[in-house]
Amino acid sequence: MFGQIAISRSLTGPRSMCPPSPGTGTQILRACTSAPVRNPMAEWRGSPNHDERRAQLVVLHQTEMDSAEAALLTLRTRNAHGRVSAHYLVGADGRLYQLVAESSRAWHAGASRWAGIADLNSASIGIELDNDGQSPFSDAQIETLLRLLEDVTTRLAIPRHMVVGHAEVAPTRKRDPGVLFPWQRLAEAGFGLWPREELAPPPPGFDRWTALRLIGYDLRDPAAALRAFHRRYRASESDAWLVGDADILFDLQQQLVLAPPAPGVPDPVSR
Ligand SMILES: [Zn+2]
Repeated sequence: MFGQIAISRSLTGPRSMCPPSPGTGTQILRACTSAPVRNPMAEWRGSPNHDERRAQLVVLHQTEMDSAEAALLTLRTRNAHGRVSAHYLVGADGRLYQLVAESSRAWHAGASRWAGIADLNSASIGIELDNDGQSPFSDAQIETLLRLLEDVTTRLAIPRHMVVGHAEVAPTRKRDPGVLFPWQRLAEAGFGLWPREELAPPPPGFDRWTALRLIGYDLRDPAAALRAFHRRYRASESDAWLVGDADILFDLQQQLVLAPPAPGVPDPVSR
C-alpha cells in the first residue's frame, strides 16, 4: 500500500521522469520505482523557483563505425555491448542529429573522471562524430561541430575550455576521438585548450604530474593519463615523458589560471 501511495504522489509532480503510460498502476509502478519525482519520505511542498540542472563540460567521441546510419542504430537501440547514446551525432557530411535532450543524462561517457568529476554522464553534453577511426575528419563535419559548440556552450554557460575527448576522461578504456582529431582548429575557434605559440619555460621545481592533474586528468593510472595527454597534444601514443611536455603543460596551466570565469546563468533573484 505504501508503494501505491508513493507512486501516485510521484505521478502528480510537475514533471514526471516516467514515460507516459496508458497502462495499469502496476505497469507504472515498475517503470517509475527507480526515479520518483517526489521522494515518498517527505511531504511535498513544491516550489516553482527552480530550473533544469546544466552540463559543465562537453565530451567528444568518434563512432568508429562506417556510417552515421549505423551509429544512429547503435545509439538508439539495445545492442550487444549494452545501451549507449549521446546528445548529438555529427555526420561526416556535416548533418547534425539530436538524440537526447540536453537536460537529460545520455549514456556516452561510461566509467570516467575529469577534474574531480566522477560521473561525467551527469555533468556533460556528449557529442559523437561519425568517423571510422582511420579517416580524417571532414571540413563540413568540423564546421558543424564548431557551430554546435558555439550554440551549446553559450546557451548552457559551459566554459569554452571545458571541451574534452572521451579518451581523456576514460584513459584506461578509450582512444577516441583519436590522433587525427583537429584539436588545434577547435582551439583556434575558442574551444578546448591548445598550447600557445610562444611557450615560456616552466619555473624551477615545476612538477609535470601535478600540472597534468590540475588540467583535469585522472592519475589513478599515470601511464594511461600520460598517453591520453600525448594523443591530444603531441599526436603520439607514448606513455613516457617527451621533450617539450613540461613547456606545454606549464602553458596549459597558465591558460587555465588566466581563463575568464564561466559566465554562469543568473538566477531571477540572486542570493
Ligand atoms: Zn567515446
